[in-house]
Amino acid sequence: MDKNEQYIAGLEHIQTCRSVNLRNSKVITILFFIGLLVSVIFPPAIFLEFLVFGLMCYSHYKTAHVPCPRCEKPFGSTWILPLAVGTNECSNCKLSLNLLYEHKKSLKSHTKEWLE
Ligand SMILES: [Zn+2]
Repeated sequence: MDKNEQYIAGLEHIQTCRSVNLRNSKVITILFFIGLLVSVIFPPAIFLEFLVFGLMCYSHYKTAHVPCPRCEKPFGSTWILPLAVGTNECSNCKLSLNLLYEHKKSLKSHTKEWLE
């Protein structure tokens, strides 16, 4: 496996983590609204909201801190409390997720060539 393939595998992993995070965020958001409704009836349940919020932060943190395949530093963000999963470029060495998109595009065009 050459360096480029290694980066692409790493970037693919980052993208998988991000889609998992997106799915988690949806579930967490639903939990948040359920908690909000419950706390109208039962105010102490508001504490559960902090727990849900913590879960959201943790999910973002884990996703933003997946190590970059090139420099091993956190890819999305170096912040301890990232508000989202971070940028599409490594925060340290600027390796971009575009490399993965370009790779996928080139794979598609090769397949087309073979089919023709
Ligand atoms: Zn990097």
